[in-house]
Amino acid sequence: MAVKVSRTAGFCMGVRRAMERTLAERRDVEGTLYTLGPLIHNPQVLEILKKNGVVPVGTDEVRCGSTVIVRAHGVAPEALEALKEKGALVINATCPKVGRIQGMAKKASGEGKAVIIVGDRDHAEVKGILGHARGAGLCVSSLEEAVALRLDRPAILLAQTTFNEEEYEAIAAAMVRRFPGIEVLHTVCDATSRRQEEARRMAADCDAMVVVGGKNSANTMRLARIIASLGKPVFAVEDETELPPEAGRFRRVGVTAGASTPNWLIHRVAERLTEMQATGVAGLLWKTLAFLVRSNLLTGLSALGLALLSLVWQGFAPAFALLSVPPLYLFAVHVLNSFSEARAQEINEPAQRLFMQRHRRWLMPLAWAALALACAIAFLASPWVGLLTLSATVLGLLYQVRLPVARLSLAAIPGSKDLFTAGAWAVFIGWVPALTAMRELSQRSLLVSGVVFAMMMVRALAHDMKDLQGDRMVGKETLPIYLGQGASRALGALLIAVAAGLGAWAVAGGRFAAAGPLVLVLPLHALLYLWLFQSRRVTGGIAFSAVVDGCCPVLAALALFI
Ligand code: SF4
Repeated sequence: MAVKVSRTAGFCMGVRRAMERTLAERRDVEGTLYTLGPLIHNPQVLEILKKNGVVPVGTDEVRCGSTVIVRAHGVAPEALEALKEKGALVINATCPKVGRIQGMAKKASGEGKAVIIVGDRDHAEVKGILGHARGAGLCVSSLEEAVALRLDRPAILLAQTTFNEEEYEAIAAAMVRRFPGIEVLHTVCDATSRRQEEARRMAADCDAMVVVGGKNSANTMRLARIIASLGKPVFAVEDETELPPEAGRFRRVGVTAGASTPNWLIHRVAERLTEMQATGVAGLLWKTLAFLVRSNLLTGLSALGLALLSLVWQGFAPAFALLSVPPLYLFAVHVLNSFSEARAQEINEPAQRLFMQRHRRWLMPLAWAALALACAIAFLASPWVGLLTLSATVLGLLYQVRLPVARLSLAAIPGSKDLFTAGAWAVFIGWVPALTAMRELSQRSLLVSGVVFAMMMVRALAHDMKDLQGDRMVGKETLPIYLGQGASRALGALLIAVAAGLGAWAVAGGRFAAAGPLVLVLPLHALLYLWLFQSRRVTGGIAFSAVVDGCCPVLAALALFI
């Protein structure tokens, strides 16, 4: 049983750019923000945008002073002029590739040539290009329509960017035969061709395919038609709730998506399919894993594993306080964080959100009890550790509160949650044993906390990258949103290098008491899960969390045998 997610599925560059532009404007502009027509062809995304005050309008509805965003498909020059005449502030988010085609159409019409566009004549992109052809353009949608044309002057032939490339090639070949002088321009977007090509390859490899995207998205429906034409069962769904039961009965299912489908929808469909495929013993195992991940118990187990490793590396004998304070405190922090992220969770991990709502009655008291217990055990073990745990708890409680001096909360600082959480892991795993046993920090405890801090930052970055598009929709300021994806990847690589460097230094100098080489597994493990995510072998949810948090308990068990 397997679910394979297409690497090219989801937002293309043009849609992503328009989306980012819109969400950036949303942050800066007060009041309602308008898009000229629906920003993208995806009802789920449009619904969230509407809740955030981003509303689609027609040119006639635009009022003076409104901010209006032109979507990736672009518009005809007359529409732009009309907006400006109405006194609207226009933000042009036309995809640069579409802009290039508009330029080609304009140039050709200026040279007295006819502009023939192969595409869907009702699509906004085609209407926009026709506008730029200034009366010299006409649209054909099929081979029959194309060969029936009569041309009385030189012409260029171009395609809507999301048209089926094979079909366009066939139409172009027929047109060249009929009108030998016609200039054929290759304007099917490479993102579209790659997606269609990968869908064909996956369909050949899988027993069935699922196409995720809006039913009104032409390129999504085209993908479904391409797969159906290969004779493979195909399910076109807008989200995971539309998956029919039979989709779970196939052994190998491929998942692809149109250019206007966000990653979080693709991931939700892939996760639901995995869940549907898991029956019998596999189903029971999946449910157990899902419970451990969604309740954050796996994170608590990961903290327990790291706490044990820390004791081994620092040369302390396992003791109740040393093995209970870090997991109790860190488990509580992660549960409370989960409850505070309702809006983002509803988009990124709705199953997790549902779990938190259903189990709030016992999960919330359990988290508070774990926090209180961590403080009590810490005070009994050492006043220093008690004070440390209490201070960390107070800082956590003040995290969302607006500080009177700065007039902002710590939560408003971009990436602060990642930094504070990674800091808490570093301090509790690295410092607690040394402070309890020796009342001071040692080189070993600083080394352990350095490695743990770097690894927990990478963990947080990986989760943030996974949730990037959903987080952006709710205005969350995570590090990848603030720094950008490139800088975040570079930061992740640097942190892995730092952890590997510290680990290698500790191992080479015999600075750990025992099981030193195991520290080198941590950066390797981070590289593994980042690769799994980048290559879309694991897209998120239960599987991703299990891979990320499952390593430390295994390493701790190994350390006990070394
Ligand atoms: S499909 Fe290509 S041309 Fe069309 S909006 Fe996306 S990136 Fe731009």
